Amino acid sequence: MTAIIHTRMLILGSGPAGLSAAIYGARAGLKPMVVQGIQPGGQLTITTDVENYPGFRDVIQGPWLMQEMQAQAEHVGAEMVWDQIVDVDLSQRPFRLTGDGGAVYTADTLVICTGAQAKWLGVEGEQQLSGKGVSACATCDGFFYRGKKVVVIGGGNTAVEEALYLTNHSQDVTLIHRRDSLRAEKILQERLMAHPHIKLLWNKAVKRFVGGGDPEGLVGLDLVDTVTGEESHIATDGAFVAIGHKPSTELFAGKLELDEGYVVVEKGTSKTAVPGVFAAGDVTDKLYRQAVTAAGMGCMAALDVERFLAEVDFEAAKAAE
Ligand code: NAP
Repeated sequence: MTAIIHTRMLILGSGPAGLSAAIYGARAGLKPMVVQGIQPGGQLTITTDVENYPGFRDVIQGPWLMQEMQAQAEHVGAEMVWDQIVDVDLSQRPFRLTGDGGAVYTADTLVICTGAQAKWLGVEGEQQLSGKGVSACATCDGFFYRGKKVVVIGGGNTAVEEALYLTNHSQDVTLIHRRDSLRAEKILQERLMAHPHIKLLWNKAVKRFVGGGDPEGLVGLDLVDTVTGEESHIATDGAFVAIGHKPSTELFAGKLELDEGYVVVEKGTSKTAVPGVFAAGDVTDKLYRQAVTAAGMGCMAALDVERFLAEVDFEAAKAAE
């Protein structure tokens, strides 16, 4: 028989939002359980330098920051569970969730901190050459391109950071962007422009990832000029797609209100339309998407959970009188 694990506060996801919710929830005596998900520690585990998380004058490493957050959450009493939720039933109370190994969790409250995942371009050759020269994570795969030629596609902070990171391995990095200006922060743009090993290709969209060789690997990209329509080709050993992220909310489709995939919460709170279900971090944030804003939202969610449970307990005590 499947064991049913009950908790008053179940947190899905273990990035800055989930772990901050866990720290606050544990300190409020709620004994939160954190289902870590497919990428324990979240997106910061696949970044390197973190320079904008308050409290650290020197550059710190993303994976280290997440280890520290997890250690702090465990230290104050949160329980980490190595599992991935595959089914959620919000129509009954307590809520009922199923892990991919069949474990069943019931929860009085649920905090969704499932974050976001890298987007892909969806053009020819991308899927086929994924892992064979095409990647969405320079810090994971950049090492394989030591001394080789690489390109990064995108114009936001991620793309610029990835291009800069790749110069640790390659002396031939090209950033390809579909417009003629970047949306990345000024300070990052300045570093990019000043770097002797980075070139920029403006107004170019990727039409096709081209494979070759045996075993097959990426050999180049077919491009199209977004202004003139002219087609061109760039030879490369590696291509890093850095065009943004999409929220990880497939589990909640049809169960919670979503806006372009993001969980909708009541303004200024972490409350969804289902009482007892809260959301925090990138899964509900299409605007800021920073580690520190996610952590702040995790804190808000724990405080919202605490208030919600206090009301539930009060009503239950009144009914029992
Ligand atoms: P982003 O800011 O949404 O930028 C995505 C980039 O990809 C844009 O330049 C966009 O072009 C381009 N793009 C989108 N779809 C495309 C397509 N189909 N084909 C070609 N190009 C496409 O995403 P992000 O860089 O991943 O950043 C996400 C959030 O995380 C941002 O809020 C960012 O500030 C934050 N972040 C912060 C840091 C940091 O603080 N150090 C680091 C990483 C990320 P257009 O410009 O033409 O729209």
